[in-house]
Amino acid sequence: MSTATLTIDLGALTANWQALDAASAGEAAAVVKADAYGLGADRVGRALARSGARTFFVAVAEEGAALRHALGRGPVIYILSGHMPGDADMIGDLDLVPVINSLDQMIRHAETLPGQPFALQLDTGMNRLGMETSEWIAIREIALAQGPQLILSHLACAEDRDHAMNPAQLNTFLEMTEGIDCPLSLANTGGILLDQAYHFDLTRPGIGLYGGAPFANASPVASLEIPVIQCRDVAPGETVGYSNTWTAPRPSRIATLSAGYADGILRAMGPNASVWVENTRCPLAGRISMDLMSVDITDAGFDPKTVELLGPHQGIDDLAVAAGTIGYEILTSLGARYTRRYIGG
Ligand SMILES: *Cc1c(COP(=O)(O)O)cnc(C)c1O
Repeated sequence: MSTATLTIDLGALTANWQALDAASAGEAAAVVKADAYGLGADRVGRALARSGARTFFVAVAEEGAALRHALGRGPVIYILSGHMPGDADMIGDLDLVPVINSLDQMIRHAETLPGQPFALQLDTGMNRLGMETSEWIAIREIALAQGPQLILSHLACAEDRDHAMNPAQLNTFLEMTEGIDCPLSLANTGGILLDQAYHFDLTRPGIGLYGGAPFANASPVASLEIPVIQCRDVAPGETVGYSNTWTAPRPSRIATLSAGYADGILRAMGPNASVWVENTRCPLAGRISMDLMSVDITDAGFDPKTVELLGPHQGIDDLAVAAGTIGYEILTSLGARYTRRYIGG
């Protein structure tokens, strides 16, 4: 078999949720949008529900519908993009709760699904989703009269503990919700780690569940082992891969691996990335191809059957640094060709 194996540790996932739930002043929800950050919303959602999560967030109604089929009736599923045209049947039939972001969405929801549950999103400075102060002042009384189930906002800079945006958004959220008797939610993973003042009734961790920064104590969830297809000796001065970007500085042993940028291994990280062969770091040699990549295994001293790209030696944030991106993008890029193995559930 030459497809790489992506192992998803559901035990680590649920331990991460339990730790973030315990750290939250109120309840911790679970953000499982984008197929649970690429790791499989059905398996991830069911494991979290079994370990006690009662509230889930997805990005769009289609994700909510799929999650409802996986979870069955019971857990609350919020749709962060709100109520968009054509969503009413999914929202109504499958008991999804749209996070209403604008007056337009509120009218659509009231017209198509009168009396059905909804949440509200307020914009406290990120300028992405939710009602701004002026809009909120105008419709606040009408919106509150319909009994929102939750009022939330989202932090723009929560991963940066000392950013002035955090207390500024907190103050705006407190002002906008003053005197309102409704459950409130502000914190993503970064927000949970800032301070209890950010927690309110419900926290919304995503990346921390999947083992990513800024949750430094997270257990790693994803590991990726890639099969070696072929090994060869190259002499000093020979080159490897497209455009001859790597030249052997010494007699070298090169392994060709069965995965490439079509599997979500970001080509940009090529020159900075390594794989691990047992306890030896083996740098990439040359460009990442579509389905293949080459690594310098000289220092390993033997020809391995597989190498580790994600695992105990190197996590999603290490790869993110190599690619100049964030762990979120490493996870959501993980390829469709991998054999997926769930353990610890
Ligand atoms: C994605 C998202 C989250 C989760 O954020 P993390 O940084 O992954 O913890 C929470 N709330 C909203 C509105 C989001 O879009």
